[in-house]
Amino acid sequence: MQVIHDTPESSPSSAASEARHAPSYYAASVNRELRFAALEGEQQADVCVIGAGFTGLNTAIELAERGLSVILLEARQVGWGASGRNGGQLIRGVGHDVEQFAALLGEDGVDELKRMGFEAVDIVRQRIARHAIDCDLRWGYCDLATKPRHLKGFEAEYSDLLRLGYPHPLRRVSRANLGEVVGSPRYLGGLVDMGSGHLHPLNLALGEAAAAQSLGVRLYEQSPVERIDYGSPTRVHTARGTVRATTLVLACNAYLGRLQPQLAGKVLPAGSYIIATERLPEALCHELLPSNMAVCDQRVALDYFRLSADRRLLFGGACHYSGRDPGDIAGYMQPKMLAVFPQLQGIGIEYQWGGMLGIGANRLPQIGRLPDQPNVYFAQAYAGHGLNATHLAGRLLAEAIAGRESRGFDLFAKVPHPTFPGGPALRSPLLALGMLWYRLKDRF
Ligand SMILES: Cc1cc2nc3c(=O)[nH]c(=O)nc-3n(C[C@H](O)[C@H](O)[C@H](O)COP(=O)(O)OP(=O)(O)OC[C@H]3O[C@@H](n4cnc5c(N)ncnc54)[C@H](O)[C@@H]3O)c2cc1C
Repeated sequence: MQVIHDTPESSPSSAASEARHAPSYYAASVNRELRFAALEGEQQADVCVIGAGFTGLNTAIELAERGLSVILLEARQVGWGASGRNGGQLIRGVGHDVEQFAALLGEDGVDELKRMGFEAVDIVRQRIARHAIDCDLRWGYCDLATKPRHLKGFEAEYSDLLRLGYPHPLRRVSRANLGEVVGSPRYLGGLVDMGSGHLHPLNLALGEAAAAQSLGVRLYEQSPVERIDYGSPTRVHTARGTVRATTLVLACNAYLGRLQPQLAGKVLPAGSYIIATERLPEALCHELLPSNMAVCDQRVALDYFRLSADRRLLFGGACHYSGRDPGDIAGYMQPKMLAVFPQLQGIGIEYQWGGMLGIGANRLPQIGRLPDQPNVYFAQAYAGHGLNATHLAGRLLAEAIAGRESRGFDLFAKVPHPTFPGGPALRSPLLALGMLWYRLKDRF
């Protein structure tokens, strides 16, 4: 059994000189080996992007497609962070409760945010198709209800999606028919969306890195940025090299550490964990998830699960807001899995791993530029919903940087994001307390 533990405190600047992917199921099933040299000496580019997760990779691709020269610096390996370890659930939408921004953005602005949440999935779809990225993409996703109020929420969501002209098949599933989606009596009903789905995130990240390289992006791995000299141009320093760039993009999300305190103060790193079973017989897979959809329940500390292409159940959840390492991930997650699927008693867990996601106070992705440094852009804080939103962020950042008007970027940049009080030491306990409150509310 393979285990990975890490926290944002295992900061890139202290990264081992040959940091490799977390030993997850994904790392064990990559379909291409990519290695990029570390940055050496002085280099120059129109744009320097820091962090080669989905945010950095997609910003780099979109910039290169617009004719800009780009250097992408990664502290460890492409997809080392959340992008290469997540649940692989590709779900429509950005943010949570975006209606909260109606006073600021107007009803039209809120609708635009919602429609951008559809576009975000399309960007992933197009990226995969254009670059023929082999990443086990499957369409079909279902939200699952554990409370009657979740079913009411599905009704409202369904009507809203129809109103907005959501272009993919949707259907509400009653408890009586839920067996066609999930083989567990635990759920009261569901909302199926055939425009969302699931994929192998590390293979997507590696495919995107290859695509970026083919477009002329210069990628460097094992190159933690240690210092930034802001100005025009900006100078970015690693242990053995420097990049001089007209524009800088910070794409480090929950792994930003202390590199940019202003941004770090707006994002709380939280751990989420996944276990992967041994390979399951086809009949058992069919019993668990007959339509091979990805699914999530609606609780704050939600369960999310799906089948891998080689017939394992990947079962995730257990957000740790306290910054505490859960220690024995399988010991923590397996009972949760068995509560959903008691029929998996006795089935082996072959992989267990975790990663850090970034959460902002209002749970809208933070996309903008530093107020005092107009040539420094950033995108972060997607919570557990970043696979699609990172791809949207890449497009919006590139539109803004390339000088094209970007109504989407302007909308996101308009939303203020409060700084969490207390500095790095107090942030996690504060979030833990806040989340405990929501979890208690979840029970009723
Ligand atoms: C366990 C888990 C499950 C999840 N499941 C889902 C899911 O099913 N669906 C979904 O939509 N979202 C999910 N998410 C969230 C999603 O994975 C993230 O929102 C998304 O991947 C963030 O991408 P990113 O590129 O912004 O950040 P990351 O992928 O975290 O990348 C940041 C990169 O920056 C690098 N970096 C940091 N500091 C420096 C530095 N100083 N110099 C150079 N490089 C640096 C890091 O090494 C890292 O590679 C999950 C997250 C986790 C952890």
